[in-house]
Amino acid sequence: MSQAPQPQAGGATSAPAVFTQALPSYLDPQHLGPWGIYLQQVDRVTPYLGKLARWVDTLKRPKRTLIVDVPIHLDNGSVAHFEGYRVQHNTSRGPGKGGVRFHQDVTLSEVMALSAWMSIKNAAVNVPYGGAKGGIRVDPRQLTQGELERVTRRYTSEIGIIIGPTKDIPAPDVNTNEQVMAWMMDTYSMNEGATATGVVTGKPVDLGGSLGRREATGRGVFTVGVEAARRIGLEVAGARVAVQGFGNVGGVAGKLFAEAGAKVVAVQDHGGTIYREAGLDVPALLAHVARQGSVAGFPGAEVIANDAFWSVPCDILIPAALEAQITEANAARIQARMVIEGANGPTTPQADDILRERNVLVLPDVIANAGGVTVSYFEWVQDFSSFFWSEDEINARLVKIMKEAFAAVWQVADENKVSLRTATFIVACKRILHARDLRGLYP
Ligand code: GLU
Repeated sequence: MSQAPQPQAGGATSAPAVFTQALPSYLDPQHLGPWGIYLQQVDRVTPYLGKLARWVDTLKRPKRTLIVDVPIHLDNGSVAHFEGYRVQHNTSRGPGKGGVRFHQDVTLSEVMALSAWMSIKNAAVNVPYGGAKGGIRVDPRQLTQGELERVTRRYTSEIGIIIGPTKDIPAPDVNTNEQVMAWMMDTYSMNEGATATGVVTGKPVDLGGSLGRREATGRGVFTVGVEAARRIGLEVAGARVAVQGFGNVGGVAGKLFAEAGAKVVAVQDHGGTIYREAGLDVPALLAHVARQGSVAGFPGAEVIANDAFWSVPCDILIPAALEAQITEANAARIQARMVIEGANGPTTPQADDILRERNVLVLPDVIANAGGVTVSYFEWVQDFSSFFWSEDEINARLVKIMKEAFAAVWQVADENKVSLRTATFIVACKRILHARDLRGLYP
């Protein structure tokens, strides 16, 4: 590593550069990819942080990064190795918290960015957590159930040195679910010699999971969507909604919008894109996806080209799949008045700017999809107290937190004439860096 001074991106009040080592390439703000995008987002808020900006470099480096080898026996008798990660971005406000994803394209840069977005998200809704994320570079669709269990267990064992109910609490994310959480909880508990339900959230309800957790992210997406629609004078009843990704997030959000009288006109997932101007039958589509694994072949809908999804006439667009879906290539074609980011990082910064110029309101991931981790927090509290709440109580508390957090972000955006994303970062970074400031440095 060279000893050149660190570039001072936007941090006029940061510590003198000469005392800090040059950044390794994967931390370099010029490095394209999710982590580079996150760093640009931090730079945008730095001018709004006042005296706390002296701590901003804390946000530009993950606190702890673990890369693990995950070897397993395949069913055919051979041994396969997968690379796994767990990144704890920040723990100033509490233990690390964030999901684990299984995907063939997972990279360290991606997991670092996702862990940082968890820090922002958790601070934005004011749950007492830092931010963390994990992942394994594996295509789970290529694995048998037994292989999937072995990958999960070995990975959990490898990251067991840094996770725990008071240290860092994983949860489901892309391609992980309640069953994966049950295996993680069991593996950690076996190694500890005691059942520790609070080590992961998003568990089955019969194993210390919370009622309402599975629907929580989609319910949060719907809640902030309704709040924002009211503020821009968009009537939800009759509004046309397009959804990308029809799983736990997009499927639930689509269902709630349909129940509120909106028309879900287009849905895209890995199987293709379907469209129906008069609105799709959402309960029937959910049942079809549960049976068939994708929207492909849903009767009564028109099949359109995947790229045409971005230009369908609609009022609300919900990207609820993966990162970097709304880009320079399609942002100018989006017809919606409002984009609600159910996924993490679905809009590139260039696309963000195009949408803002075109007056399309973007409800950013770091507030819009925070419903999942909010109910994860409820689950963790319930596990610690071994006392479980009713679903109505959970949903009511979730809606209250989401509405209050959204109102605070809206006000900051209004006062500073900034996007909701920058406003959410302002609220969250101030909370994180205030905690950092109060704690001070050890030693
Ligand atoms: N994976 C979800 C997210 O990105 C939930 C994380 C959690 O519940 O800890 O927000």
